[in-house]
Amino acid sequence: MFLWSQSSIIERKWWLLLYDGRMPSIAELKQACGTEIDRHRERITSLGETIMDAPELGFKEENTAALIKRVFDEAGLPYQDGLALTGVKAVLRGGAPGPVVALMGELDALLVSDHPRANRSTGAAHACGHNAQIAGLAGAALGIAKSGIAPHLAGTIVFFAVPAEEYVEIGYRLGLVRSGKTSFLCGKQELIKLGHFDDVDMAVMVHSSSPEFLPGKAGLTASANGFLAKSIRFKGRAAHAGVAPEQGVNALDAATLALAAINAQRTTFRDEDCVRVHPIITKGGDLVNVVPSDVHVETYVRARTPEALLDAATKVDRAIRGAAIAMGCTVEIETVPGNLPLRNDTNLARMFRDNSTQLLGTDGFTEYPHSGGSTDAGDLSQIMPVLHPMMTGAKGNVHSPDWHIADPECGYVMPAKTLAMMAVDLLANGAEGARKVLSEFQPGFSKAEYLRRQESVFRTEVFDGASALG
Ligand SMILES: [Zn+2]
Repeated sequence: MFLWSQSSIIERKWWLLLYDGRMPSIAELKQACGTEIDRHRERITSLGETIMDAPELGFKEENTAALIKRVFDEAGLPYQDGLALTGVKAVLRGGAPGPVVALMGELDALLVSDHPRANRSTGAAHACGHNAQIAGLAGAALGIAKSGIAPHLAGTIVFFAVPAEEYVEIGYRLGLVRSGKTSFLCGKQELIKLGHFDDVDMAVMVHSSSPEFLPGKAGLTASANGFLAKSIRFKGRAAHAGVAPEQGVNALDAATLALAAINAQRTTFRDEDCVRVHPIITKGGDLVNVVPSDVHVETYVRARTPEALLDAATKVDRAIRGAAIAMGCTVEIETVPGNLPLRNDTNLARMFRDNSTQLLGTDGFTEYPHSGGSTDAGDLSQIMPVLHPMMTGAKGNVHSPDWHIADPECGYVMPAKTLAMMAVDLLANGAEGARKVLSEFQPGFSKAEYLRRQESVFRTEVFDGASALG
């Protein structure tokens, strides 16, 4: 239950005075937000730098969550916290009912232990710019709430700080799942499952970018790959590699056969499905004079559509089983869901292009048809309109030690303004913009179908290659 805060009532009166009772234009509403964001420039950029120096890994972002809660308090916004362990969701209601637009920022850092600003004990580092996402979200919250424009909007703005986008510490997260603390390994998946997006109609965020990563100042891909992850253990039989190799079952040979069989599948993948399978051997044996009996392989399977993802995963499983048969060993295949493919909403994309180019200039806006990377915003984009674009401000290679926000104005302040401008475009004029987005959106899955699909990916298969053919 959320109530009008005292400050928004005061600001509402200020608005009535300023506009003499008439409806302000969309440009005036955006200008009012921009002026407030400029007034809070120091607060926004110092928040981004503070988070840069205090990186936390997914589902553990307590301190980062506390920092954004302080901003919501300053903005007079009521919020819920501890969502999917660390998420924080603040709400600002407009002057009339209407669609609910979530502006999102991701709380978590990556593991890049040699980053100069990494946490020395955990290895966490903001090498993907999520610190800038939270600064941008904070700026949008301050700009929209403190400008007092809410009475002129039809609908609700949710300011959502979301946990655990990066797919890291898989063992730790599987432990959370096994102990019942979470159901999924990523934050947005968990928030969907827990119903924290049930009252949200669409979601918009802005990801940081660097010239090394994206040539223009802003841009987006129409879509991005989804993926699932496999952890594979070949179990053979140890024996002296020189004296009695005939008594052994070589699990390393089974693993290398599996990699060859997976490679042979590549000719069957369609170009348009953008399938990527990239296995690695994480344990190849114990001693060189012992036939390897315990060999570990990990892989992601990525693809452009949910269907292509399952098709490629089926072929990978078949290749692994075939190798186990060839060598007569056992193999355990543990599969866990990654992200579903991202589908950036085209109407939201158009709004982003208009607003970001207004701020940064028309040169260098880059649109890609597809990206091979993945994000859990993809999961959300299968059930509601979502936008996951990029804006400049960083320098260095993404996910590497040289990544940092080099231009605070572009990295922290511009995303705040863009988010605020998009909220205005969506909810001003009786929420005409948001209603168009919703009317033209085609979901990939209902929430129930989505959960069934992702839950069905969790699977551990033990296949005995020695007895499979009878
Ligand atoms: Zn990221």
